[in-house]
Amino acid sequence: MELKPIFEPMTEESRPLVIAGPCSAETEEQTLTTAHQLADKGIQIFRAGIWKPRTKPGGFEGVGSVGLPWLKRVKQETGMLTAIEVATAKHVYEALKYGIDILWIGARTTANPFAVQEIADVLEGVDVPVLIKNPVNPDVDLWIGAIERVYNAGIRRLAVIHRGFSTYDKSVYRNIPQWHIPIELRRRMPEMPIICDPSHIGGRRELIASISQQALDLQFEGLIIESHCNPDEAWSDKNQQITPDVLEHILQHLVVRKMNQ
Ligand code: PEP
Ligand code: MN
Repeated sequence: MELKPIFEPMTEESRPLVIAGPCSAETEEQTLTTAHQLADKGIQIFRAGIWKPRTKPGGFEGVGSVGLPWLKRVKQETGMLTAIEVATAKHVYEALKYGIDILWIGARTTANPFAVQEIADVLEGVDVPVLIKNPVNPDVDLWIGAIERVYNAGIRRLAVIHRGFSTYDKSVYRNIPQWHIPIELRRRMPEMPIICDPSHIGGRRELIASISQQALDLQFEGLIIESHCNPDEAWSDKNQQITPDVLEHILQHLVVRKMNQ
């Protein structure tokens, strides 16, 4: 695979690449407030879910397309790049129409080759960075298959997100990390940047710092961390979201070791 850097510069010095923002865009005010707070901390890439893949119907399923102009405002007012999850062809069209900078494919979508192919088909001829989360189940071939579908559509700015794997067993984690799975992916695709999602692995604020440090110790390139201006009132994933202040504190205390240290 011949990849291009998802962002410039992507060097040892710029590690870790940090993407932060709320699990979901809830209101224009919550989105903008969180974005400005994160931009003030030096965050350069803002994430927010617009369409949310919830386990059961009846809960908050994302604000949908009405949230896209909010992200446009985020970009205009803060200069941050914006990233959202896409799960259907329609999501991709909408995202591109509103100038979203980075797309990610969620864990439930990666597990479904038809859905990934549908997304890949509409990405033909589009030059946008795509981040591919691992499938919910620990299947490295299914993960690589999704990457190949997107790559075959011509996308060269690619990275993967390790967000842990579903389990029915009791665990301190929400999604068990099974670090050997992303490590196997790296063995098979050494050029592929890996971004760790400690928020969805841990499911709890207290675990974010230690999971992030483990990812850096494994030489992962980046972190995607859920951050909300008022986490306790978040409409989704409130137990794992942290304020921009706490995020800054965590980032300041992470140790970035070079390859041979
Ligand atoms: C998310 O990033 O908000 C999300 C829904 O994640 P995942 O696909 O990893 O469950
Ligand atoms: Mn979430």
